[in-house]
Amino acid sequence: MSEKILVTQSSMPPLNEYVDLIEDIWQSRRLTNMGKYHKEFQAELKKYLVTENIELFTNGHMALELSLQAMNFQNGRNEVITTPFTFASTTHAIIRNGLIPVFCDINFENYTIDVSKIEKLITDKTCAIMPVHVYGNVCNVEEIDRLAKKYELKIIYDAAHTFGVRYKGISTANFGDISIFSFHATKVFHTIEGGAACFRNEKIGKKLYNLKNFGINGPESVEDVGANAKLNEFCAVMGLCNLKHIDEEIAKRKIAYDRYIENLSDIEGLKLNKIPDEIQSNYAYFPVVFDEKVFGASRNEIFDRLAKNEIYVRKYFYPLTNSFECFHGIFDVSQTPTALYVSNRVLTLPIYSELDLNDVDRICKIILELKK
Ligand SMILES: *Cc1c(COP(=O)(O)O)cnc(C)c1O
Repeated sequence: MSEKILVTQSSMPPLNEYVDLIEDIWQSRRLTNMGKYHKEFQAELKKYLVTENIELFTNGHMALELSLQAMNFQNGRNEVITTPFTFASTTHAIIRNGLIPVFCDINFENYTIDVSKIEKLITDKTCAIMPVHVYGNVCNVEEIDRLAKKYELKIIYDAAHTFGVRYKGISTANFGDISIFSFHATKVFHTIEGGAACFRNEKIGKKLYNLKNFGINGPESVEDVGANAKLNEFCAVMGLCNLKHIDEEIAKRKIAYDRYIENLSDIEGLKLNKIPDEIQSNYAYFPVVFDEKVFGASRNEIFDRLAKNEIYVRKYFYPLTNSFECFHGIFDVSQTPTALYVSNRVLTLPIYSELDLNDVDRICKIILELKK
């Protein structure tokens, strides 16, 4: 009980289930390069994510980066509309492709891209929109679709947070031209490290397959300047094991989630993340936005007080990606005021399947003791 509590804890399948499959890999000596378990895992994911088209990667970031490359934008069209309220990966994927991120603000309702502000940012150089389903909250996919059609733009969703999430019954793998997932150890579902891109167009799928294998497209032919981003067999097997238990994992997260809601509902100055009826959630994160003027304590004070009690929450996402030092001030954070507001006030509280409900109560008690 009085042990350190971190913001997340990786889910682990029963060890024997993993070892059984590892033994088979040992015998076969086939460790990577789209082996038997890579194929099997891919097939199982198609079922779980309800999608026909999925390519696996060594991590979510490479899925994003190579998805942009696969689009092969032409004619000097190099601007990608995105948000700064995300993990470094989203923005880096754009810049590492030689493209320019154009930052759109987020909405205060669910922290995803503010669709009312996209149109003003579209120029004749815009090639794509890269929105993020932040915290597993689904973007306004209908409006984004409409804009993309109207201006002939591609849509690549950073769906890293939405494994297992459904919107109006539809798996988030099925929105946009491509939706990418992360299977990092800290995510709801993981393969230690891993990721996937779910795509609509067969040609893009072939491209993605080649790009993760150096751009090799035949025994004596290299068509693209690809990377190496293949998911290895040990990771594929971890995915197969975790996938068997994923529904149970999500159900356990919901119990912790509901306990937080019980403790923290209707507290002035404290905004919780609402899950609308049309969303089937994966309870990936528990973000809380603190308004210091009303609550009486700042986000940083709460962060520090929890840390004194060995509870390590996260300022997620802080800082905004458009303020990273690696960009040397070329972006203007005042262009995304809602993102800036939330980023300065948000904490994500610990949530994972094995989180003890007594610990949830204790975390909430420490927070509420700071209320003035
Ligand atoms: C985790 C994450 C990524 C990157 O995924 P990796 O598997 O860690 O490379 C990208 N975008 C978001 C929003 C993420 O949370």
